[in-house]
Amino acid sequence: MYVGRFAPSPTGPLHAGSLVAALASWLDAHHHRGLWRVRIEDVDTPRCVSGADDIILKQLAQCGLVAEGEVLYQSQRGQAYQFALEQLVNKGWAYPCGCSRKEIEDAQGQRLRHHTPVYPGTCREGLKGKTARAWRLNVQQVIKDLALPLTCSWHDRWLGRQTQNVEQEVGDFVLKRADGLWAYQLAVVVDDAFQGITHVVRGADLADNTPRQMLLQQALGLSTPIYMHTPLVLGADGDKLSKQNGAQALDLNHPLAALNAAAAVLGLPAFEGTCAQALAYWAELAVWGR
Ligand code: GLU
Repeated sequence: MYVGRFAPSPTGPLHAGSLVAALASWLDAHHHRGLWRVRIEDVDTPRCVSGADDIILKQLAQCGLVAEGEVLYQSQRGQAYQFALEQLVNKGWAYPCGCSRKEIEDAQGQRLRHHTPVYPGTCREGLKGKTARAWRLNVQQVIKDLALPLTCSWHDRWLGRQTQNVEQEVGDFVLKRADGLWAYQLAVVVDDAFQGITHVVRGADLADNTPRQMLLQQALGLSTPIYMHTPLVLGADGDKLSKQNGAQALDLNHPLAALNAAAAVLGLPAFEGTCAQALAYWAELAVWGR
């Protein structure tokens, strides 16, 4: 049984870019006669905006995008994340890290990837007098113990074959942050498994998180969903559309216009009629059979 999801961070209302991911995940789930779940990813509390979750759910409903079952809130899931971290610590696959961002950048000579320095593994052998700040996954150790290939590869239903060497390109990534908050990678993996997600459909900006999530799934003995990363809406500066580069909240007075704009990004034909008719029409198109 297909189970898909849309997992917005409540940092503001939906905009033209986030609607594309919502629409694509809904259409793919319905094409496969599956379930579509919604999860509010409110772990990064400093970035969350109070009330944005309700606005997002209302915007989705106005476009005819209604979730099956209860909406899951990551802020309620701390115990599950703690349990997962303990499992990794017990296996010797997670360790405390005392490095500051500056120390990591200095050690790496500014080797940055998406503004995040590749972690050089400084605390892997112990804290050496430093105070524990964050928890990290020992990528090398997981790969070795589980006899995994050094380069992770997967077939993305939209992008085709993808590869990443997590150790070289990302390093030992954070599971629990220095400020005590749970990292996106751990939360998303634990919750995709908890919600029984079989297919992840989300924006292409998240594609390069997939190998980290696959590694965590293997380390936690969880199954790996099938992935599809859909095209992004770009802002005036050429970056992914976001509040920072001018994204407007969706105009709820014209939900069909918003849906048609999102559909165009996915290469789907424009549709005249009601939102429900448009959704039913697009869900039957062959693109979702890929
Ligand atoms: N919460 C993430 C975001 O809004 C999406 C996570 C995911 O789909 O895996 O960018």
